[in-house]
Amino acid sequence: MNEQLKCCIVQDLLPSYIEKLTSSETKEAIEAHMKNCQKCRKQYSLMKNINKRKDIHENEEENIEYNHLKKYNKKMSCIKITMSIIIIFIFIIISIITGNYMYKRSILNRIYNNYAELKSLDNYIIMRKTLDVYYNKNEMGASSIKYYYKDGKIKKEVRELSNIEGFKKDISQYSQIKDTPNDITEYYDINNNKTVTIYDSRKEYSEGTQQFNTNKGELFDIQFDTENFNIWFIPYIIQIKNQKYNDMEYYILQYNFGNNSEYKQIWVNKKTLNIERAIEVGEKYYRESIYEIIKDATTDNDLLIPSLEDYKNVTEK
Ligand SMILES: [Zn+2]
Repeated sequence: MNEQLKCCIVQDLLPSYIEKLTSSETKEAIEAHMKNCQKCRKQYSLMKNINKRKDIHENEEENIEYNHLKKYNKKMSCIKITMSIIIIFIFIIISIITGNYMYKRSILNRIYNNYAELKSLDNYIIMRKTLDVYYNKNEMGASSIKYYYKDGKIKKEVRELSNIEGFKKDISQYSQIKDTPNDITEYYDINNNKTVTIYDSRKEYSEGTQQFNTNKGELFDIQFDTENFNIWFIPYIIQIKNQKYNDMEYYILQYNFGNNSEYKQIWVNKKTLNIERAIEVGEKYYRESIYEIIKDATTDNDLLIPSLEDYKNVTEK
């Protein structure tokens, strides 16, 4: 092979030589030529530098791409972590809400079931004492209702209360109002809807028929409204607190209305699951009722209509 390659041929081969793609013979010939040719040596170092820079540049581009990917991955894992936290947070909140709902639901169900059982009784007494306080008039009144029930016969006694012990509210600062003659005794028979109403202080009575109190257990519905406890959303709108009062443990069911200073409270004895107290606080009034349920306490004598010889019949015909 001709040792003396022409410069133009050498320079044409330089790219392959730099990339180390030439045969060993060509390689030797190029190197031999460059030993004696400054022009080609110069060209070689120039091309090599360009190549190097190109490599660096490519590397840089790769680096940029790599950094970009890294940033993207970082961002993605950031989003993943945030999403996980949000999902866990939502899960916890749902658990709390569900747990709270189930807790209230189970208490309400137990009370509801207790009253379903009470409604099936054939003999009982329900007593209710009610205190009314009117803040704007600085007045109060108190009355009692007592229901006797035995085998479909009912006696209802409504009385003014002079003894007002047992209420939670301190009423010493209120003047009492006594403008309603609360001395009514009514006798019902749910089998024939016949009623006799006696107004004791007026020495009057009336006879008639009526369409309510015609079902067994209806007296409990009138007094306690426990049917509402069965509604699915009730646990969402009431609060249940635990309270000790007079050495007894109570569930206090509270429902707020109006502005939040107005509320209704129902106090349920934890042991018997009976409602023993109801409090309603309005803007201008306070109403508190105390309840007592006594099983198997009504006698036939309680339901006997007394002699009305001295009473005037005021039945409207
Ligand atoms: Zn040359």
